[in-house]
Amino acid sequence: MTLRINVLRGQGQIGGSIIEVKTETTRIILDAGANMDEKRSNIAVPKIQGLFEGRPAYDAVFVSHYHSDHMGLAEHVLDGIPIYMGKAAYMVKRALLEYKGQAIGFTPKFIKDGVPVTIGDITVTPVLCDHSAYESFMFLVSACGKTILYSADFRSTGRPDYDAFLDALPSVDTLICEGTNLDWDENRHEPAEQDLEALAAETLMRHHGPALIYLSAQNIDRIITAYNAACRAGRRFIMDELSAVAAEAAGLDIDGYVLRASHSLADLGDIVATGLTANRRRSAKVKAQRHLSDSFPAISPRKAFASPDFLLCLTPQSLVNFRKVARRMSFKDGVFFFGRRETYKLKPAASAFIALMKSLGAEVPMLHTSGHSDVASIDRLIRSVEPSSIIPVHTERPDWFARYEDECQVIYDCSDFEV
Ligand SMILES: [Zn+2]
Ligand SMILES: [Zn+2]
Repeated sequence: MTLRINVLRGQGQIGGSIIEVKTETTRIILDAGANMDEKRSNIAVPKIQGLFEGRPAYDAVFVSHYHSDHMGLAEHVLDGIPIYMGKAAYMVKRALLEYKGQAIGFTPKFIKDGVPVTIGDITVTPVLCDHSAYESFMFLVSACGKTILYSADFRSTGRPDYDAFLDALPSVDTLICEGTNLDWDENRHEPAEQDLEALAAETLMRHHGPALIYLSAQNIDRIITAYNAACRAGRRFIMDELSAVAAEAAGLDIDGYVLRASHSLADLGDIVATGLTANRRRSAKVKAQRHLSDSFPAISPRKAFASPDFLLCLTPQSLVNFRKVARRMSFKDGVFFFGRRETYKLKPAASAFIALMKSLGAEVPMLHTSGHSDVASIDRLIRSVEPSSIIPVHTERPDWFARYEDECQVIYDCSDFEV
């Protein structure tokens, strides 16, 4: 009996990950990702027989986390093939989509950290890891006396202890390893999420004007960072509805407010729903309000902005409309934290908002750290699990792995590799 790996997509590129693992009797898929540049409305579903078309020929699909380059094709998997995913991750993603009036499109079986799932003669054990998506897993896959570790996406700069994480991993035969940041300099180290928290708290204490943070609602860790910083600086924590929906679905214990529309500032009514049609906007709002009714008290804009001692989370959904309100406020001695990747500053809505904030007197510091490992942390993972073979995926720098060729086999073009 043999355990074999076939990277169907996502080896010489970042994203679009689809990996087949099989024995003579069982076939499973690790991640069903869309390509990075594909929007949900126009995804080109790859013609993979037995997975997306024809009769079902796979026994299970395991989704590591909810980023679309790992989960974007899950709703296109043929009926009859069970999909496995973390419950909290599913709840967050489903809530965010429903808020926008969209359905998630599949119902998974739930997996838990450290609890093995047996599919035929293959056993998959989810290993909770740190990444910019909530409840992300690596997968340990065992069959035929061999073990594979699939790293999916991970980083060492989150709140969990990376040393302890590595210590708990076993040695494996094959490591399927991501390398998103391998084009970085070897000595580049990103700040930890806790460093961002300290920086934000210190910045908030130096300023007395209003404070905003721009973040992705999917990045639950960044919401926690913002919340902790607001607490440390003694500021009220306010979320727009989308970040509140995410925080609630993740089950966070947050003492904050949700910014809602008020009659007195009618144009704020649409603050959270930019880009949706009128009907969808209405139904999405009803859902969001029902969803959030007890967790976070609503605050009207008039109350929210009456005194400047707040930190408000803005997501892309609310940024454009908040601009109308911001124009009428003073941001003298205020702060606008940019809590997303630097490249997002180039988007028209973000760059216009930054210009506005600066013209109104706010400082605009970055408050971001990558969701992926730096070079040294990838090296430490490899040293820790001592693989006999490495399959680089999710990278544009597979050549980086050549340094291990003396110690193990590096598979650059994995089409039917026997572990
Ligand atoms: Zn990814
Ligand atoms: Zn990811």
